[in-house]
Amino acid sequence: MKSTSQPQPTVFIIFGGTGDLAWRKLAPALYNLYLDGWMPDHFSIIGTGRTKLSDEEFREKLLEGINLFSRSGKAKKEQWETFSKNIYYQVSDLNDSKTYQELGSRIESYETAWNEKADLIYYLAVSPNFFPIIADNIAKKCPEAGLDRTRIVIEKPFGHDLESAKALNKQLQGIFDEKQIYRIDHYLGKETVQNIMAFRFANALLEPIWNRNYIDHVQISVTEQLGVEDRGGYYDGAGAMRDMVQNHILQLLCLIAMEPPINLDADEIRNRRVDVLKSMRRFDADAIRFSAVRGQYGHGWIEGKEVPGYRDEPEVNPESNTETFAAVKFFVDNWRWQDVPFYLRTGKHLSQSASVISIQFKNIPHSIFPPEAAENWQQNRLVFSIQPEMSIRMQMQAKRPGLDMTLNPVDLVFDYSGTYHGKPPEAYETLLLDTMLGDQTLFMRSDQVEAAWDLIMPILHAWESKKSLSFPNYPAGSWGPENAEALIAQDGFHWFTLPLNGKHG
Ligand code: NAP
Repeated sequence: MKSTSQPQPTVFIIFGGTGDLAWRKLAPALYNLYLDGWMPDHFSIIGTGRTKLSDEEFREKLLEGINLFSRSGKAKKEQWETFSKNIYYQVSDLNDSKTYQELGSRIESYETAWNEKADLIYYLAVSPNFFPIIADNIAKKCPEAGLDRTRIVIEKPFGHDLESAKALNKQLQGIFDEKQIYRIDHYLGKETVQNIMAFRFANALLEPIWNRNYIDHVQISVTEQLGVEDRGGYYDGAGAMRDMVQNHILQLLCLIAMEPPINLDADEIRNRRVDVLKSMRRFDADAIRFSAVRGQYGHGWIEGKEVPGYRDEPEVNPESNTETFAAVKFFVDNWRWQDVPFYLRTGKHLSQSASVISIQFKNIPHSIFPPEAAENWQQNRLVFSIQPEMSIRMQMQAKRPGLDMTLNPVDLVFDYSGTYHGKPPEAYETLLLDTMLGDQTLFMRSDQVEAAWDLIMPILHAWESKKSLSFPNYPAGSWGPENAEALIAQDGFHWFTLPLNGKHG
């Protein structure tokens, strides 16, 4: 976990500097780190891409992204000018070995000017098919830069399946030490997600009840109102299981289910997360249809606007079998969680955009209240709302004011906006700073990525080998296919949603 130390002199090389990720996320994050005093005295940011741009044109492009997306608002002239002097652009093709020689020379020239060696962070903000060629070339063509000071940041998706993830891990580990490989799952950098660990392990009252004796079931919902937008080409080869469940949602589950670590060391925490993945019950082919539901959106309405069905989206196969919705019931087979269902769901073009974890506690053993007092009865729930609302809520029963005894669910609320001033750092700020500081706690280790793939492969195989005859099976703007309701209703529960006004339904 982060210390207060300042990063060493650093050269950031962003492969894909002209891309969407660099524009919307990386540039605003680096700029905010600079504003907050986290950047080292000596740093350079080199963006690369095939688009022909001068340094000045590249700076202008990043400034546009910062002005649109930075949490600190539009850049102030003076601060931007000092920051942007450190930004450079290199027109280059990733398939051309000259690219890497030229980068090596640039890095050397900065180090000569600074009169000290720099840490080198290679950020791979490009399509995954470039990951192997970049890694190979960094090793071959930039030896003068020193491999031991090098870190490589890999964006999702990390592999397309278990085999390709293993192959990529093998290749990277043939070049780099695991300590140099930073596999990003940006969910882990979110403030509210980091708070799950703080909340669980800094409060004595939770641990005694954090187990199968008190918890009925857990739900993790990551729902999106957006459709595939302009990412149809990528998404049609991926789907909801690969895009959301294999990485973000399983990592959330790990944070909820992990055993208490003995300290905050990166590997200690990552060991505890891997333990969860390894304890998760594997699916046999017959069980999948009872435990997993897939969906694909059809034409519908989102906030009064008509939107096309998935198969009519640009770059999507008109007969696509790709799921835009997935709901799965998992079990964690260990002493703490035996027989506690973990329901996960995610989907595109759903009714609401929200990432919410709900932990429902068991019912009271005996009620002393007459039925008419408990008409609005609701079992206790702890709700972590990750986005858009950032809050932690404990839902309890209390007496409604009045002369009679009527019970009503009420929320004990910790709401970020009401408790703290200012906007918290974006996930990418946290993760980029951690990369500079060499802290891997919030990054995925090779065994974690592989264990997550291993878990979902049987579902992917089952869905890919049998075309869904019911697709599209939910209209855009709804809460997903009916089968997803049945998946949880058959166990006597229903999907929890946090209404936009924050009051629970
Ligand atoms: P993008 O907008 O399509 O950008 C791709 C970048 O790759 C561009 O800068 C492009 O530069 C460069 N590029 C492509 N072919 C090249 C070549 N032969 N030589 C040199 N540069 C080349 O993609 P993105 O949305 O930024 O995503 C980048 C990566 O981040 C992907 O792996 C994606 O899955 C991941 N990711 C993105 C987001 C996001 O919010 N965008 C979120 C999570 C993960 P030119 O066009 O100038 O050649």
